[in-house]
Amino acid sequence: MTSETFESRPFEADVSRLLHMMVHSVYSDRDVFLRELISNAADACEKLRYEAITRPELLGDEPGLAITLSADPEAGTLTIADNGIGMSRDEMIEALGTIARSGTRSFIDRIAVAEGQGSGKEGAQLIGQFGVGFYSAFMVAAKVDVVSRRAGSDEAWLWSSDGKGEFSVAPVVLDEAPARGTRVVLHLADDAKTYAERWTLERIVKEQSGHVPVPIRFIEKPGA
Ligand code: ADP
Ligand code: MG
Repeated sequence: MTSETFESRPFEADVSRLLHMMVHSVYSDRDVFLRELISNAADACEKLRYEAITRPELLGDEPGLAITLSADPEAGTLTIADNGIGMSRDEMIEALGTIARSGTRSFIDRIAVAEGQGSGKEGAQLIGQFGVGFYSAFMVAAKVDVVSRRAGSDEAWLWSSDGKGEFSVAPVVLDEAPARGTRVVLHLADDAKTYAERWTLERIVKEQSGHVPVPIRFIEKPGA
């Protein structure tokens, strides 16, 4: 274990700006959040597949890569899990708290223009184009928890945020983490509970994620 424990940090200013735009203006096509989270899960599986070419031990006794969607309509949660590469604490802070990628700043400018013109639709289309996918979770979730364990690591970490300026990171015991990979738990907003219903999820997956190179499974209630 490392000595770091619970920590709360502000989002980079541009992330806060982006999140504000997500929540307040890109409302017309919220379904895209699922495509973004599934594509991240698939990317994580591809990364593991690649790293395992030289380090096959990373696959351990779980060689099959998969994405699992579990919905709990009563709790109002949707969980997108993968057993891909996972994230270390530092990777989480970097990947989910900053805008490091080029192109995202111009995304912010373009979406601001779209917002000024009252065109939320264009904004939604821009999300995928510019790769600001993860933050789109906040279009439907009042709170997002990300539990991740990097392949080969004996640590797991929880990233958590309500998207309002800050996020926290804290260690989690391995029993409460996936054996490998990432679990994104969306605590759905009151007006987004439909995303905890299987038929809604199946419709969106069919429409948007047909070509994902990793199998996608459904579980009615999240057991893990
Ligand atoms: P992009 O996918 O274009 O890089 P995102 O905002 O969708 O942008 O994701 C940001 C980063 O967060 C990813 O590049 C990746 O490093 C990390 N990430 C997100 N989801 C996962 C996941 N399920 N497993 C591992 N890393 C992830
Ligand atoms: Mg992405």
